[in-house]
Amino acid sequence: MTRQIVIGLEVHLQLLTKTKLFCSCSTDYIGHTPNTNVCPVCLAVPGTLPLLNDGAVALASRMGLGLRCTIQNYSTFGRKNYFYADLAKAYQITQYELPVATKGYLDIECDERTKRVRIHHLHLEEDAGKLVHPTADGRLTGAAYSLVDYNRGGVPLTEVVSEPDISTPEEAKEYVVRLRQLARYLDVSDGEMESGSLRVDANISLSNADGSLGTRVEIKNMNSLKALERALEYEISRQNKVLDSGGRIVQETRLWDDAEGVTRSMRNKETASDYRYYPEMDLAPIVIGDEEIEGYKAGMPELPWEKRERFAKSFGLSGEEVSILTEQKELAAYYEAVAAAGAPTARAANWVRMEVLRVLNELGQDISDFLVKPEALAELVTKIENRELSSTIGKEILDLLAREEMTLDQALERTGARAGRMSGDALGELIRRIMSEQPDVVETIKSGQDKKGAKLKFLQGLVMKEARGQADPKETAGLLSKFFAESTK
Ligand code: ADP
Ligand code: MG
Ligand code: ZN
Repeated sequence: MTRQIVIGLEVHLQLLTKTKLFCSCSTDYIGHTPNTNVCPVCLAVPGTLPLLNDGAVALASRMGLGLRCTIQNYSTFGRKNYFYADLAKAYQITQYELPVATKGYLDIECDERTKRVRIHHLHLEEDAGKLVHPTADGRLTGAAYSLVDYNRGGVPLTEVVSEPDISTPEEAKEYVVRLRQLARYLDVSDGEMESGSLRVDANISLSNADGSLGTRVEIKNMNSLKALERALEYEISRQNKVLDSGGRIVQETRLWDDAEGVTRSMRNKETASDYRYYPEMDLAPIVIGDEEIEGYKAGMPELPWEKRERFAKSFGLSGEEVSILTEQKELAAYYEAVAAAGAPTARAANWVRMEVLRVLNELGQDISDFLVKPEALAELVTKIENRELSSTIGKEILDLLAREEMTLDQALERTGARAGRMSGDALGELIRRIMSEQPDVVETIKSGQDKKGAKLKFLQGLVMKEARGQADPKETAGLLSKFFAESTK
């Protein structure tokens, strides 16, 4: 019996405000001495009062609009009570009954189909601090004692809760990728899973024989997209085994152990009553007027899917190319600047998504660190398009420009590509020389054993390399086959 997989995700995004949600401590908590980024409010000293950071409300609203939610004119905070050492107040201020945005959706692409994942709601809440368990080998269990660091306590989060519309681990991953892209386009969150500014709680169940929803478990502690996918795969097979052997799934929270590749039961699922939610009396409701919502709408930048559509239309690119170029808005802006500087759009697209990304990867850089100005790349690509340079030498020039501060002219000079075209007799002479240096290769080709033409390509490569980019690839190939035709006559 094949059971349907049902997945709903709760994604926490750390908002890019400068200060915490209810006090003026900095949100920049990573790498600081523990418990230095704190004040009486986020340490929960009795008698202190929270003061809402409007910037966080604006960011959550932007994210809500990006997810096509309805922004609520009136929403409220509540207290979610639980005792844990990383929670200074012993309750978390969160939105429960009336969240800031409701009922939206996010479209994802999977297997070349578009799938719509409905968003149940999005709410604001504060983050907790962090427990550190010092074990010699860094494991999560077995520490003799624990330390607590409240630097992260009170940092603003928005939690995006999906409907259980996701049907495979791959879709779950794609959903997180799209959500993260949206958050980054909107400058709402940097969305780094590794550092914890994007955290996913995954709810997963297998449907019953009659098609009704099965009992779900919630999985936490996945620190990468890969981990999310693996945790869901593991859980599907675990639940299938339990059900196949006639057992029942218990509703619980499970932790993903990345090293072992398993989920482990952490605790039975709490229900709302376990948390004794009640209204936060120290904070007024969040009131967002219609004009304010209109203002947020007017301030929305171009969204990923809008950019994709425009790139496809105005630059005549394929869906695959557009997806790569628009993955990061910074890379998209770079490509646009290259095109605006007059580069042929199709070849420029190729160069940005293949060569620029290759170099960035080699240098471990972001596009914002990239030394090659869009104008320089535009000129380089235009020269290649006009056959003034081979793409081999073009790549060499790009490598130089990316590593040292220099002009395109200087790079042309340095690579020897300045001197001008090599063709006709000069090129012929070079080809004959290379052929004489490679007698074995030449023999193989002559005797007809180079069925796939790999040897011929090899010779052509040697010629192009020697010619320092001054030879035209087509002319080189033409001359090579001419010489072979002559010599086998
Ligand atoms: P809770 O209040 O206990 O967190 P919610 O109803 O708010 O529960 O759901 C939390 C998440 O669990 C949502 O993302 C939702 O889509 C998902 N979910 C709910 N029921 C199921 C189910 N049967 N299988 C998988 N996911 C589910
Ligand atoms: Mg929940
Ligand atoms: Zn503080």
